[in-house]
Amino acid sequence: MVETAPLLVASTVSVSTEDVRPAVCPETPARYVSSPLWERAIASLREHFSDQTYELWLKPIWCSHVDDARMTLVVPNPFIRDWVQNHYLTHILDAIQQETDRLYQILWLIDDRLTWAATEPPAVPAPRETTAPIRTPVTEKHTPPPSLIPRYTLDQFVVGPSNQLAEAACRAVIDKPGGKYNPLFIYGGVGLGKTHLLQAVGHALHQRHPTWKIVYAKTETFLNEYVQLVRSNRIDEFREKYRRHVDVLLLDDVQELAGKERTQDEFFHTFNALFEMGKQIVVTSDRFPHQIGDLEERIRSRFQWGLIADIQPPALETRMAILLRQAEREAICLPEPVAFFLATHVKSNVRELEGALLRLAAVSSLTRQPITVELARETLDQWLVSSPLLPSMATVQGQVATFYRLSTEQLLGSQRTHNIARARQMAMFLCRKLCKASLPAIGGAFQKDHSTVLSACRKIESLLPSDASLRHDLVELERRIG
Ligand code: ADP
Ligand code: MG
Repeated sequence: MVETAPLLVASTVSVSTEDVRPAVCPETPARYVSSPLWERAIASLREHFSDQTYELWLKPIWCSHVDDARMTLVVPNPFIRDWVQNHYLTHILDAIQQETDRLYQILWLIDDRLTWAATEPPAVPAPRETTAPIRTPVTEKHTPPPSLIPRYTLDQFVVGPSNQLAEAACRAVIDKPGGKYNPLFIYGGVGLGKTHLLQAVGHALHQRHPTWKIVYAKTETFLNEYVQLVRSNRIDEFREKYRRHVDVLLLDDVQELAGKERTQDEFFHTFNALFEMGKQIVVTSDRFPHQIGDLEERIRSRFQWGLIADIQPPALETRMAILLRQAEREAICLPEPVAFFLATHVKSNVRELEGALLRLAAVSSLTRQPITVELARETLDQWLVSSPLLPSMATVQGQVATFYRLSTEQLLGSQRTHNIARARQMAMFLCRKLCKASLPAIGGAFQKDHSTVLSACRKIESLLPSDASLRHDLVELERRIG
């Protein structure tokens, strides 16, 4: 039975899965082809929220039907429906309204055959979309350059003693690009906000000078593009992108230049060309210039021409402030004592802090318990707090991600590219072996179910006898994790 609620108020309607089951053989899991309207809406939501929120709450939603007033969304279980309704519904409605200029009504269907991390392409015909939405933007708003993450702005960056120098330097660069802080070299450990600050410079400069060409790239991308374009004799394209009419170059993780002689040479010339024209260059690195091995002296010295600003791990008060800001952004009800508990236990970096809060929010929603210190303690014990003898799962995840040159998001995400999947299996295997964690606890730490963890561990065990390189990885990782 489908009830409808008054328009403007999204309604919650659960119907038995029989009502929505597509005509496929019973063993085939139901899949829904999303409507173009939903896809556009979800794409704009993706920009608004962190990767973790997107993966956990928004990606599992499918759209089964849409007309010009109502959209039916399908989720795997009632918890997700409730959570999404309570936290993201207004955003969803806004996103749809942006696309169609209309207020839609949302109907919900629960289909327990959908997995929580449904990533496979759908296999049933698309529901008809009877609307022909014409986009009429209500207000002109600042659209960031596509390579920048929308929320990496200065106003979302919490300043404390550990990062105030770097933040002030960024503000000085924004006020006077190409001035005395050129280049600006930001360095600090993993997950401390380097990329956030670097992109914040991009956002602010774009807002002040909308016609400027602002190029943000990860050094790895810079390197790969260089190699590819040189190989196909298209070096001009590379120079066009990184030098011609570029007003600001933001290069992330320049420690990756280490040992890449030919690209270092190209970087050197790019640097000089831009610098001589008074263009601003900002780079980040997880090491101080002198600690980057295999880096030509002439590049090292150029990094020191401007200002070197470091970011240190944040102090307790800053960690609290970051958590409270994130909770507000993600609409999570986080009592201060819980923020204090998390901030006291997760000290190493901000990314882990954010991950801990989202994990706690997920458990609270799934088990329908409020977020309390007790719940935080139960949920995060194995993940966060290492016993004197055992490493924490967060340490294992961090080390494995660094070792395989992945971001934590990639390691914890659901991409199945060979190298990412293998790294994920290795991380799960090590959590079992070194942290002695249970399968469900590991599942919780990776947002996967325990059977996925079990098959990951079995996979690594079966490969080890015949795969020398994997054995080498294992030995090295165990050494690093200690
Ligand atoms: P890094 O590039 O140093 O590895 P990121 O810039 O990717 O780190 O930051 C990791 C996460 O922590 C991001 O989600 C970022 O928004 C957040 N973060 C880091 N520092 C701060 C801060 N001072 N205020 C708010 N969020 C922060
Ligand atoms: Mg970074």
